[in-house]
Amino acid sequence: MTARLIIMGPQGSGKGTQAARLAVRLGVPTISTGDIFRANIKGGTELGVRAKVFTDAGNLVPDEITNAMVADRLAEPDAAAGFILDGYPRTADQADVLDGVLAGAGSALDAVLELDAPREELLQRLHKRAEIENRADDTEDAIRRRLEIYAEQTAPLTTRYAERGLLVVADAIGEVDEVTERLLAALAAHVG
Ligand code: ADP
Repeated sequence: MTARLIIMGPQGSGKGTQAARLAVRLGVPTISTGDIFRANIKGGTELGVRAKVFTDAGNLVPDEITNAMVADRLAEPDAAAGFILDGYPRTADQADVLDGVLAGAGSALDAVLELDAPREELLQRLHKRAEIENRADDTEDAIRRRLEIYAEQTAPLTTRYAERGLLVVADAIGEVDEVTERLLAALAAHVG
């Protein structure tokens, strides 16, 4: 099976952790837009300077910047046989652009994994992470803003993927290992 996957889920759902683990198990690279932005901000690149004002406030980086960055990354040879997109697409425009980029390369998505967790659990996990990691965008306001944007702009994308028969939902509650196995089992059941 090819594994051209998106992993979706609100901030705090464990999406990044699970994306990295699935990538190892499936032998494909993870493409995390948040990680790429953070690396560029740290490196002081032009992209990083442009992105920082948005990420610090918990706002989305404008679509034209993000879309171009992801299209470039998907064109790299290691993504030819599959990938796990983490943190992208987050808007309807990004989802449209992604479909176009894949179609242009003669490929398409295999599945969209969604991690599901109750809001109280998410907030608890995010506050814990803020204490441990000290991320610039893990302030109270930025966290609230990111959850709002997720609910308004990103969560609705699951409907579109469900309509295309691509959506696979898994419960995000439990031990990290348990959630990974749950995701892999749900994926296997989906792709048959
Ligand atoms: P989180 O999932 O906790 O919001 P991420 O690491 O995925 O964190 O993203 C951090 C920040 O990077 C976002 O708040 C946003 O500013 C920017 N970002 C990441 N992915 C995207 C995207 N697809 N479109 C626009 N901005 C993005």
